[in-house]
Amino acid sequence: MASMPYETLYRKYRSQTFDDVIGQDHVVRTIRNAIRAGRIAHGYLFCGSRGTGKTTVARLIAKALNCGDGPTPDPCNVCDECRSITDGSAVDVVEMDAASNRSVDDIDALREGVKYPPMRLRYKVYIIDEAHQLSATAKDAFLKTLEEPPPHAVFILATTESSKIPITIRSRCLQFDFRRGTVDEIGGRLKTVAEAEHLDIEPDAIELVARIAMGSYRDSLSLLEQVIGYAEGRITTKDVYTVSGMVDEDALLEIGEVLATTDTASAFALADRLMREGRDVRELLKSASNHFRDVLELKVGADKRHSNDVRWRDQADAFGQDRLVHIIDIFAGAEKDLRWNEQHRLALEMAFLKAMARPKEVAAPAMATPVRAAASPAEHVRTPPPAEAKPKETKPVEKPEPSAVPPQPQPVAAAQEEAPSEPEPAPASDAVGASVTLGEVQREWQKVLRHVEKILRQPNVAALARAGQPVAVADNSLTLGFTQKWRFHRDKIDTNTQWIEQGLMDVLGTRLKIRTILVDEPEPEQQQPMQQSVEQVAHPLLNDVLTTFGGTVVDENDSDPWEEQS
Ligand SMILES: [Zn+2]
Repeated sequence: MASMPYETLYRKYRSQTFDDVIGQDHVVRTIRNAIRAGRIAHGYLFCGSRGTGKTTVARLIAKALNCGDGPTPDPCNVCDECRSITDGSAVDVVEMDAASNRSVDDIDALREGVKYPPMRLRYKVYIIDEAHQLSATAKDAFLKTLEEPPPHAVFILATTESSKIPITIRSRCLQFDFRRGTVDEIGGRLKTVAEAEHLDIEPDAIELVARIAMGSYRDSLSLLEQVIGYAEGRITTKDVYTVSGMVDEDALLEIGEVLATTDTASAFALADRLMREGRDVRELLKSASNHFRDVLELKVGADKRHSNDVRWRDQADAFGQDRLVHIIDIFAGAEKDLRWNEQHRLALEMAFLKAMARPKEVAAPAMATPVRAAASPAEHVRTPPPAEAKPKETKPVEKPEPSAVPPQPQPVAAAQEEAPSEPEPAPASDAVGASVTLGEVQREWQKVLRHVEKILRQPNVAALARAGQPVAVADNSLTLGFTQKWRFHRDKIDTNTQWIEQGLMDVLGTRLKIRTILVDEPEPEQQQPMQQSVEQVAHPLLNDVLTTFGGTVVDENDSDPWEEQS
């Protein structure tokens, strides 16, 4: 055994039969049926995120076509042909990584080689990984081959970004979408591996590895492998947290328990201990904002995972909804600000202290960044167009709230009290993926919805979204809160989030996933601040401008005359 070459878990437990492929039933069934019926396509396009089994299935197709008994939907895995494909020695199965610089040369070689019949096998199979990364020249060259494929050639393109594959190539391929594995599916596979490897591992640790892998089988197995290498004795969740750099639940609950008090000394002591434990502050801040999001979800009854856990319940009881939103915003903002802050310990301590203060006690916007704050608001406000220009569209400033807009949930009212009073420039278009704060989203929210309604032409989606309110921004996600009354709208939105995400991308230049939660009904007095018109909330300087220059607000339709951004 000792002399055997080391094999990674992913290679060792790679699916060797179609039955063994987990979570891609729709793909596997179609492919097997086609092979059984003798319908062999010359081009396949496999789309899906990393580690979902695209190349694994591609190799299975190579075996199915070339098995000594084949073509067969059930390759035997024991004949010479199957074995040569399993161990990677089959000369007629060519795997290329399009991400390499040589892709043009590779495609040239492919075009030359594909003319000749296979040397050993029935079909020549070309597996092109990361196919979207082929250069434009290589794509053109490849298209010529795909237009007139020799009968003995099969091309399987795998990509994580199908939109970057030209339609001319896509239209000549059978396209299959690989989905991410669920925690249960990945956990099940990990359990099988753990048993086969005789691992002593806590079930919770398996589930945690499955969750951290975010749907990727490959990532789950490589993380498990690292944990095996690190742990001594029984593998616990603590080992998984340590190896993955994630912050353990225990530490997060402890942070929550300290923040629930007014004991500043304990906050400093906790920050000190976390630093001494060698924690990564960025990871701590990120995990903390996610943790308090989970607490918020538990508090409003949308989370069942922790509902029987006393420590979690205590934490949910210790904070009000508005306070939780405030804390989420503080940690998310602090994580973002780390880019400009080399004093990580100070950043952690300040985040703790700010989070200990009740929202009402916070006078200044907690998250104002140095860069943004430096920009003078005057640069971004222009003189309003003369009201006479469009007399028909003139409306009073105190535009009443449209009746379709539901009462606002409590957290929003609280969060908007802290909104900075200066309008900020919208992020530049190159800021794709950059994070924004909740305040920024709230200020632009009506504009986003108008964009979804008018530009993206999704009035129904916009109307549904109006029933909810942005309540948290964390971990590249925007959480929309819906009260019980609007539960139906929430359910419908859950299947239409892409339009809202597109709207956020177009208006704010940032990529945020939409999540939804149920929130409590607002208390009557909490609605007071929301009596302001939408325009006033969005443009706090508006009244000043109107006072200075005179005039009234012109209905702005799709474009916003107050912003320099188009
Ligand atoms: Zn075989």
